[in-house]
Amino acid sequence: MQNLVELIAAKRDGRELSPHQVKRLIESFVSGELADYQMSAFLMAAFLRGMSDVETVALTEAMLESGKVLDLSHIPGIKVDKHSTGGVGDKVSLALVPIVAACGVPVPMVSGRGLGHTGGTLDKLEAIPGFNVNLDTDAFARIIREVGGCMIGQTAEVAPADKRIYALRDVTATVESVPLIVASILSKKLAEGIDALVLDVKVGKGAFMKDLDQARTLASALVRVGTRAGKRVVAVLTRMDAPLGRTIGNALETREAIDVLFGRAPADMTECTYALCAEMLLLGDAAKDMAHARERIAEVIRNGKAAEVMEKMIAAQGGDPGVVRNPGIMASAPHVVPVLAPRSGFVRGIDALEMGLSAVTLGAGRTRADQAVDPAVGIVLDTHLGEKVEKGAPLAHVHVRSVEQARPTLDRILGAFHIDDMADPPRPLVIERIES
Ligand code: URA
Repeated sequence: MQNLVELIAAKRDGRELSPHQVKRLIESFVSGELADYQMSAFLMAAFLRGMSDVETVALTEAMLESGKVLDLSHIPGIKVDKHSTGGVGDKVSLALVPIVAACGVPVPMVSGRGLGHTGGTLDKLEAIPGFNVNLDTDAFARIIREVGGCMIGQTAEVAPADKRIYALRDVTATVESVPLIVASILSKKLAEGIDALVLDVKVGKGAFMKDLDQARTLASALVRVGTRAGKRVVAVLTRMDAPLGRTIGNALETREAIDVLFGRAPADMTECTYALCAEMLLLGDAAKDMAHARERIAEVIRNGKAAEVMEKMIAAQGGDPGVVRNPGIMASAPHVVPVLAPRSGFVRGIDALEMGLSAVTLGAGRTRADQAVDPAVGIVLDTHLGEKVEKGAPLAHVHVRSVEQARPTLDRILGAFHIDDMADPPRPLVIERIES
């Protein structure tokens, strides 16, 4: 049997490792036999040489098996989750879970926090007074059975190998590797006990994947590896050049997600939610085709079932369900400052990355994992892509703790708007879909 250094050397030299060899590396790392510096060398070799699908499946499974894998087989139905690769203003999960659950498909969702310029679902949920994202796995399973959906944070027991490997990747310039990203995302998602998964792979300035080819490569790898691991998987590529919807910041975004449940959210936010929910209903065998899925979604919004599930889920997780009918009970910022258009014209671009970074500076996001976020602060867009604006009219309103503190950010937000003489023709939010 080859020793661990020989396995690292094999990857360094571009040879394919067997599933058994990949698993041995991960098991040795978890047990402490393989040191951090050796794993770092392996990660760089994998980054430079790539990994086959067979290797990536083995890596995913080994990382998954490093921790607890939830068994939700006692809950009837096909359990479907959604994962987004992260964007600015992406609050879809908060509306999607109650909609899909109201259509009869159980949704076990384990989400993350915002890091960098992108927001995180857990931070948005915690804007709801009392909402607890730190439930144990028994409570998680019980709420899915009783309410249809539950949204929690990753526990220390889920894929601990990923946590340690991610920390090494972060400091060894090995994050941007498709097989390593695929194994990292899927190991955590498969640990939730799901049967099927919809992936929202964001593309554009405000996304992790800046161009379409990169996003396509990641999406197809996620679908292929997820399918090989025995799950039904679909990926949808969606545009993330401008923020999604009109709000960035935790309580503001939660309010907009609630708006979807009442059919009064902005068109792009509604479309993104419908597109992803429809995929989940198809994977969950709750609709016969896309048109039927969209009808079912519209129905649970019209008849109030989605809003009711949201109330039940919030109550089951310790939150105040009154927020659904009265979002004003969430924290709000003491000052709201307009950002005015310097000229008349049409909004041709809103740089999602700049907007996301501005929101972080205001306190809506974090620059270190251990920071707290301020639920009240953020940005509300008064104008969006393609809209006409007059000189002196508000482009956006910034919700802040102190006007003084906000002043440098106001210029940055203004700079994120591109106003021109003409508008671009509207582009569809969903770019393409990839299935196995
Ligand atoms: N998200 C993850 O969970 N892991 C990655 O490697 C990248 C994005």
